[in-house]
Amino acid sequence: MTTIWKKPVKTNSRKRRGVQHLSLLLLFVQLVLFITPASAAALSNLKDFPLSSGFELVDERPVKDLNATGKWYRHRKSGAQVYYLQNDDDNKVFSIGFRTPAPDDSGIPHIIEHSVFCGSRKYPVNNMLSQIQKGSVNTFANAFTTSDKTFFPVASKNEKELRNLMDVYLDAVFHPNFYQSPEIFWQEGGHFELASPADVPVYNGIVYNEMKSHYTAVDNRLDRAILKSLFPDTSYSRDAMGDPKETSKLTRDKLLAYHQTYYHPSNSFIFLYGNLNIDDTLKFLDEEYLRDYDQKQVDASIPLQTPFEKRRTVTGEYPLPTKEDRDENTYLSLNYGINEPLSSELILTMTIVDRLLMGTATSPVKTTLLGSGIGKNAYSFLLADIKQPVYSIIAEKVRDEQVPFFESTVEKTLRNLVRQGIDREQLQTIIDMVEYEIRESQAGASRGLLYNQLVLNSWMNGGHPAALLKVEEALAKIKQGASSGYFEQFIEEHLLNNLYSSLVALKPVSAAGKEEPLKTALTDAEKEILFRQQKELQDWQSKAKSSENIPRLTLKEINRQAQVLPLEERTEAGVKVLFHQLFTNGIAYVDLYFDTQDVPQTQLPYLYLLAEMLGNVSTDHRNYRMIDQELNEHTGGLAVVPDTFPHYKKGELITPKLLVSISAVADQVPAALELLGDMAGHSRFDDERRLREILHQIRTHRESALYEAGESLALGRLQSFLSPAGQYDEQGGYSYSRFIVDLDDHFDTKVAEIRRNLKQVAQRALNKEGLIISVTTGDKEYPLFQQNVGRLVSALESQHFSPETYHFQKADKKEAFITASEVYVVAQGIDYRETGRQYNGHMEVLRNVLDHGYLWERLRMKGGAYGAFSQIDDGGTISLCSVDDPNVKETIDVYAQTGEFLRRFQPGEQEMTSYIIGAIGVMDDLLEPWEKGRVAAARYIRGLRQQDIQQVREEILSTSPQDIRNFAPLMDAFRRARNLTVVGNGEKIMQNQDSFDSVVDIFK
Ligand SMILES: [Zn+2]
Repeated sequence: MTTIWKKPVKTNSRKRRGVQHLSLLLLFVQLVLFITPASAAALSNLKDFPLSSGFELVDERPVKDLNATGKWYRHRKSGAQVYYLQNDDDNKVFSIGFRTPAPDDSGIPHIIEHSVFCGSRKYPVNNMLSQIQKGSVNTFANAFTTSDKTFFPVASKNEKELRNLMDVYLDAVFHPNFYQSPEIFWQEGGHFELASPADVPVYNGIVYNEMKSHYTAVDNRLDRAILKSLFPDTSYSRDAMGDPKETSKLTRDKLLAYHQTYYHPSNSFIFLYGNLNIDDTLKFLDEEYLRDYDQKQVDASIPLQTPFEKRRTVTGEYPLPTKEDRDENTYLSLNYGINEPLSSELILTMTIVDRLLMGTATSPVKTTLLGSGIGKNAYSFLLADIKQPVYSIIAEKVRDEQVPFFESTVEKTLRNLVRQGIDREQLQTIIDMVEYEIRESQAGASRGLLYNQLVLNSWMNGGHPAALLKVEEALAKIKQGASSGYFEQFIEEHLLNNLYSSLVALKPVSAAGKEEPLKTALTDAEKEILFRQQKELQDWQSKAKSSENIPRLTLKEINRQAQVLPLEERTEAGVKVLFHQLFTNGIAYVDLYFDTQDVPQTQLPYLYLLAEMLGNVSTDHRNYRMIDQELNEHTGGLAVVPDTFPHYKKGELITPKLLVSISAVADQVPAALELLGDMAGHSRFDDERRLREILHQIRTHRESALYEAGESLALGRLQSFLSPAGQYDEQGGYSYSRFIVDLDDHFDTKVAEIRRNLKQVAQRALNKEGLIISVTTGDKEYPLFQQNVGRLVSALESQHFSPETYHFQKADKKEAFITASEVYVVAQGIDYRETGRQYNGHMEVLRNVLDHGYLWERLRMKGGAYGAFSQIDDGGTISLCSVDDPNVKETIDVYAQTGEFLRRFQPGEQEMTSYIIGAIGVMDDLLEPWEKGRVAAARYIRGLRQQDIQQVREEILSTSPQDIRNFAPLMDAFRRARNLTVVGNGEKIMQNQDSFDSVVDIFK
């Protein structure tokens, strides 16, 4: 479903692994996508820099391609360092980071990252981050823990707000209240809960629950095992995020001692970015914080791991749900430690090598593994934000008899590649892809945050802050070497002949399902203490509502005008075109919206299947391997998704479309459009072998996603009970997984039917009639689109089919899904139009009140859930959802009491203002150029006009506490909500079995 304010999701046909929140460790692949080239000129003449505000200028030099200047300062008294990347970007960034090596597996760095936001000297509020998110127009506010650092970035376009938030962040990291309040450690790290002193204690805590969920995913466990195998002698072998088994053993004293050691200005790395007043900022840093500290020696560096003399072999275990076969589920990974200092050249080379070996449909290592039946899937892991980068090749779900062949198959393929030489054309394509991504990132809306990461990766490891921002030179060098064996040599040296490597096997063991109790043998006196602590925590949490004193902007400082997104209607080659003229750094984003109203309801699952086939099957003119090659060569990727567009305020009316999108740099636009036309107009569905292959891949992918499913499964099912759009979208959700399993299981008998249906659906969907093309690019690039769009359009049929009428009925249903997770997602929803209400801007403020005033406190702080939020759409639904939640029944009770909470809603003036500002902040979220085009097109299709958006904004700005209280009767509908979806562990689902109409065990 398309919502108006929230960012659209950029779907990409090249599947990436799931990314876990707050673990940058896993983010490298994404990180590399955003690397931006910069060439630093030689050290400029260092002016005699007067000691200003206690800072001395260490270094100043231009970072040419970022149109920036880098200034590196050192605070004399405290030893704090500041790097300011100055340019004219309005989206300013502040971040403070510390080197935080993990002393053990209990997750101390991660728990501190959470705990500093639970109140500080100046801002004694338990939920500072939520308070910030609730009441500001920031474009980013969060914190990250990686395997060697913790950093706290915040971004805003408003300089005054940035300063406010800087003050909150600095006070939080240097003066946290957890020294005075043990309750903070209990809440974030964990504590034991007992219904009575006689009860068996159960451990609960926010980080504990977050990591329990994290450890459910096998690939996360594998990443851990890989680091452990390659860094046996350094802290990289330990989990800075926390192994839930160890988290419960952590003591508060250890946590405090750790904070005292590492959260000191001498160990801090402050990053500033964008168009801001630096002199004033340095003065502020000095006067408010840094001058109170004397420099001290902080040893936070992580020693280099001595490379091995021979490959290590390590075997580990992971719990497998009992229903699966234990002899075909081993995870294998071959890992290489790269014993070379981090540099742009190294990162780029590894990125290109990775794409080459594993990244495309024709990559040799990937295709050889899958072709030899070694594993149901193969992927790679590239970690380059640490001192010694790591590269891994992984086979997923390998059958026992294939295990011995994994290592030799990978090595043999590499050896052949080195001996025969890498295909030049393929190599060039991959270099082009990487260059495309660099170019796209230069126009990225939140590029300052990405520079922050790149700066820290080098700076904290002893390099120059700007070292990894310089990419151009490295790229030129690599390109030059490409034809003279540079990559072959790299593979030979760093992979084939590299003894600093390991082979890790994770074997499944049966999951008993039950958690082992963390504390069994406790004396009554000990239990009494735990019981008392739990009471103290509850008391503290109820009192901690506290002064609302986070500094805020005033309503006067908020722009009353809603942003206008460019959209110009044109006609090209007989087709309606929506042109969004924006700076895109020379890239054209082309979105085709095919009308699918003529696809019969019974064939909708095939529409979703068609979306996965496009680009993966051959056409009349190209085989599918050529298509993959050309997509990589000419475009930045292809995405195909069915989407529904509910009419504004009329959720019962939807306009269904098939969105086919592609992007290309200007000179590739003609080739890209021709290719797109061929895929849309001439795809063939008669290659049975290929169909079977794709179906099988989809099934494997879907099944493993389902085991770990949470939020999207819960909300997808819930929406399908509540609205036509939800029901339509669900055809691509859980029902679709069932559909695929059925087709795969009965392929031989159904193949004719599959071919026929795909062909029919393609005829109706991929048709010129009703087509809208949305183009986001610059004025200079548009003519290239205009001159070549005919190549695309002429490939499409123009046939009339009558529109179908869909019958979607709302359903009352309470449903549970048992997955591998140890915790729960609990989602419940209502159709508010049944209570006679219509959508208006006050609801945006209500959403903010629910998220930050109610659910956060009740479900996160008190309940221990990692997340909780509401979703309100203009079509008529409100949903409440918790994530990584240890509770089920208690959470449903919290939902039921929402109306009561609203009835008693009596915010102070300032608090009310922050709810309003926060709601505006969500509307003014940063959008990438392509997102602006997509949002504008969605509004056009939904019939949502600029005056509607302006009206919503005015309603938000005029919201009063009474307007919020007036929602109480509406939210009372949750007392008798007839719809519920719970996803998670079997234990509590079975305990509450009677509350559900159906319980689905994913493993059966
Ligand atoms: Zn966390």
